[in-house]
Amino acid sequence: MGLLDGKVAIVTGAGGGIGREHALALAAEGAKVLVNDLGGARDGSGEGQAMADTVADEIRAAGGEAASSYDNVATIEGGEAILQAALDAFGKVDVLVNNAGILRDKTLGKMDEGLWDSVIAVHLKGTFCVTKPVFIHMKERGEGGSIINTSSTSGLDGNFGQSNYGAAKAGIAGFTRCLALEGQKSGVRVNAIAPVALTRMTEDLVMFQQDGVKDQMAPGLVSPMIVFLASDLAKDISKRIFFVGGGRIQEMYIARTKGVTKTEDGGLWQPDEIAAHLDEILV
Ligand code: NAD
Repeated sequence: MGLLDGKVAIVTGAGGGIGREHALALAAEGAKVLVNDLGGARDGSGEGQAMADTVADEIRAAGGEAASSYDNVATIEGGEAILQAALDAFGKVDVLVNNAGILRDKTLGKMDEGLWDSVIAVHLKGTFCVTKPVFIHMKERGEGGSIINTSSTSGLDGNFGQSNYGAAKAGIAGFTRCLALEGQKSGVRVNAIAPVALTRMTEDLVMFQQDGVKDQMAPGLVSPMIVFLASDLAKDISKRIFFVGGGRIQEMYIARTKGVTKTEDGGLWQPDEIAAHLDEILV
């Protein structure tokens, strides 16, 4: 008996890296998996069918059920085609993992509109484009569902040279929190992870060049969290964001300080008063 027997999962960007591990882990627990991947390079250029097909073959070779999709998450037509491919192969969708992504890093002064738009399109708009049709399907089917989005510490903590990527990833966190509220009535849970793992996306990062670090950052270490969130073990978990990587799992959340409230003058602060109360306002 697998934790996900009878469930159908879509994983976008599952032809390599973390997404491949998600697809294999979901299938190992009994889920039928639609392996989506556009099959391009790290920066999103190019496309091909081999990446998705190879992972689908791996799942079948291990005794699981899989189908492939090569559609682009960054368009609503692509999102609808991804849902349709899952319905054609397996008849329903219980789990959606929005994982597809690209990197086009530059500091803001060097970032042109194309670098901005392409990263926002794949990550933020891509999450919308695939989630919308799947969310409608889950609501209409009336059996609930689990949607897991992929945010990043780059958006939630900040990272030098990634304002396009960080904006998209923080946007995905906001999307997750809003959609979780919309999904509540129909039992559609919506969570996000902020993973860290050694993949083609991160292989040139300085932190991964230190001795021993590569072994601790295998992408497969992220996927058990996806299986958990997809399963009924997480039936009460929604609207959460989890850091996952290198064996560590943490909840990430937006916090407010106790702050300070002015009651005099109708609550109107003067700038110099704000300066004088900074130690009560800041963490
Ligand atoms: P990766 O490059 O190995 O995987 C991304 C996959 O998405 C690729 O297989 C790629 O072909 C696919 N893809 C790209 N554009 C697509 C599109 N338009 N439609 C469909 N598929 C598309 O990188 P990864 O590290 O495995 O990243 C997976 C996810 O995790 C991404 O969303 C990434 O931003 C996020 N992430 C990764 C790390 C990390 O440390 N590796 C950290 C934070 C967030």
